[in-house]
Amino acid sequence: RAKDMGRGVSVSYEDAFDAEKRQEAMLEAELRAQLEGDGIGVAFQPLINAATGRICGVEALARWPRSGGAAILPDVFIALAERGGLIDTLGMQVLTKALAAARAWPGIGLSVNISPLQLKNPSFVAQVTSITGAAGFDPHLLTLEVTEGVLIAHPEQARRALDGLKSAGIKVSLDDFGCGYASIGALRQFGFDRMKVDRSLIQAVDRDENGGAVLQATIALANALRIPVTAEGIETEEQAMLLRLSGCDELQGYLYGRPVDAATLGGQFFPASAPRKVVRA
Ligand code: C2E
Ligand code: MG
Ligand code: MG
Ligand code: MG
Repeated sequence: RAKDMGRGVSVSYEDAFDAEKRQEAMLEAELRAQLEGDGIGVAFQPLINAATGRICGVEALARWPRSGGAAILPDVFIALAERGGLIDTLGMQVLTKALAAARAWPGIGLSVNISPLQLKNPSFVAQVTSITGAAGFDPHLLTLEVTEGVLIAHPEQARRALDGLKSAGIKVSLDDFGCGYASIGALRQFGFDRMKVDRSLIQAVDRDENGGAVLQATIALANALRIPVTAEGIETEEQAMLLRLSGCDELQGYLYGRPVDAATLGGQFFPASAPRKVVRA
């Protein structure tokens, strides 16, 4: 029908395009203000040791607490921050806040997501090591999660950054494995310390007759390369059982805990470390 209406419609397409750009600019300004003000929020989701069933780490996930506005999902505001040149600031803010919270949970690993764009920044590694040092956090307990996009788009910069992190004792994990190009080569060439199987592969087990086989083959591949595997998005006991049997050593999902603020996670998993009243005899 658009074709029949001719010129008039193309103008209204342009209007729609302009409206979208205005909307984006407004949202970007709001995000910038949030970063300059209270900052972006951080939620924490437990990572469970598959052998012991105990918490062994937490993943930090950015949250945008919008006063008076509808919630915006991380996938949306992270992309907005990337387009608007705000991702370096956002990323370092999440890292700083996550390290401060994780210090209260001794011996627990901390995983923080990193945008591929951040790895392109030549001072990225220096910033990460300086923030980690300032927080007094053991770098060996820190893992940065990256998706494979950067490895394809900017292999040289990515390699330099990943090598730098490794020398500082920081681990790097390949996030969302199996939902993109499933770059088997990259897993080895870039020396990843861990692979995270994407939620979609776990959900496929219940939906698609070959889902279980694909999932098990993916985990077997990582096992063959001696790369430990985390499965994300586990919602049922059946999924957890299959993953344990397949050789997955770390489990994450709503079955074990949703992403929550630091105080809530501390109360759920580390009640002993919560501040207590001193009782005098
Ligand atoms: P991700 O790194 O793959 O994080 C896992 C996502 O799966 C999170 O979504 C988490 O809430 C969700 N999830 C965990 N368990 C379950 C489950 O059992 N069922 C379902 N349905 N979902 C589950 P979230 O928090 O919306 O984050 C989405 C993505 O946004 C993240 O995916 C990550 O790529 C990105 N992101 C989040 N925080 C940051 C950040 O600080 N920096 C960067 N660069 N990206 C971030
Ligand atoms: Mg992640
Ligand atoms: Mg993931
Ligand atoms: Mg994912």
